[in-house]
Amino acid sequence: MAHHRRSFQNRLDTRAPYDQARLSQQLNSVLRYVLAGPMELSGSLYTGSSGIAYMLGHVGGSGVLRQAATAHSGSSAGPTSTVALLPCPSDLFAYGNTYLQMARSQFSGMRQRHEESLLCGKAGMHLTAAMLSSAETPPPAGSEETTTQHVRRYLSLRSSAVSCEASELLYGQAGWIFGALLLNKRFGDETVPPSVILTVVEATLENGRMMSSELGIDCPLFYTWHDRPYLGAAHGLMGICYVLLHVLEKGWAVEGLESDLRGMLRYVLSLELKADDYGVETASGSPDGMYPTAVGDGAGREPLIHWCHGSTGAVFLFCKAYQVLGRQEYLEAARRAGAVVWRSGLLTKGPGLCHGVAGNGYSLLTLYRCTGEQAYFQQALQFGYFLGTEEFLHGSRTPDCPHSLFEGWAGAACFLCDLMQPMAARFPLFELQ
Ligand SMILES: [Zn+2]
Repeated sequence: MAHHRRSFQNRLDTRAPYDQARLSQQLNSVLRYVLAGPMELSGSLYTGSSGIAYMLGHVGGSGVLRQAATAHSGSSAGPTSTVALLPCPSDLFAYGNTYLQMARSQFSGMRQRHEESLLCGKAGMHLTAAMLSSAETPPPAGSEETTTQHVRRYLSLRSSAVSCEASELLYGQAGWIFGALLLNKRFGDETVPPSVILTVVEATLENGRMMSSELGIDCPLFYTWHDRPYLGAAHGLMGICYVLLHVLEKGWAVEGLESDLRGMLRYVLSLELKADDYGVETASGSPDGMYPTAVGDGAGREPLIHWCHGSTGAVFLFCKAYQVLGRQEYLEAARRAGAVVWRSGLLTKGPGLCHGVAGNGYSLLTLYRCTGEQAYFQQALQFGYFLGTEEFLHGSRTPDCPHSLFEGWAGAACFLCDLMQPMAARFPLFELQ
């Protein structure tokens, strides 16, 4: 296999203007590509048919598509209408339901490991089904019942989440907790009662406190996944801390949570790498917004700039920490990580959310919403345009699941759509607002 660089050199011009027609065109061709894809997928949100259904709900329910639907039917929209080429929301919802049916048959019959996993298990399929059935306006007949059923199934996985050995986001407790928060955001605060969510939160805290004291680490909540002390958003401390910050924000009484999270943030920040370790030209010895994949990784390992591992996850974590705890120090950390994403985040690995250009672009949109600074939107926008360039299309690798939400183009579809409504943008299944 040919050796691939990790990222394309960033030669993007941030003065390139916002062009809705260009974004619509890109989104349209990405949707066509995803929907023409093979049907032999797993059932998961991460690489399977639930993820494609989720994307169809995300794009179909967006303001962007509602605008397109008006352009289809309204007499005022001429042939030059920039959004008219996009499909109707109702078509996307119908496709979404087909993908969900596939997910159901893929999950049925087999005894599943990680059932309670939001991104890799059945839990995510139920969440997607609940959301998709209520996405249409007006909701189709019976949708309320369907939603209730799927919310109940999501809830029924709570005891597996409590006893789950993993606490990280991808397979463990943090993912289940975040899914419950997503359901409450969508359907109302008591959909998953706080007392139920808190049983999983308490189990997560217990795991983290126990491991911290067993290993004698100066981080009040400490976790490993498959015996490795990962740091990033998917498997590590950043993702768990990020989810627990949302719990803290709710103001529910959880003893010691705030001080544990402050300690955890301090610890994560202490692992930020110094620029000159990696030949980056900044002030000597200054922290640079990069992070090792796992605690204790030596300087010989080049840091990754992914959502799953590295700086991208740090942007989300520290923006949230700044919003919840209000310390300037956190915002500065988010900005440093964002600068790394801008510099080295045009990944050759693919277009997706987990370790691709779209996921990295989303972190720049988060900085935009957090700071209100247009410059971050311009950066995110250029990442979006880059997904449609010859350089990317011919120079990037094809991921194992090229149509999927977290590895493939379905993730890019969400990102392109959200670039047209940046204040309402949300990283799928990882941002509440
Ligand atoms: Zn990844």
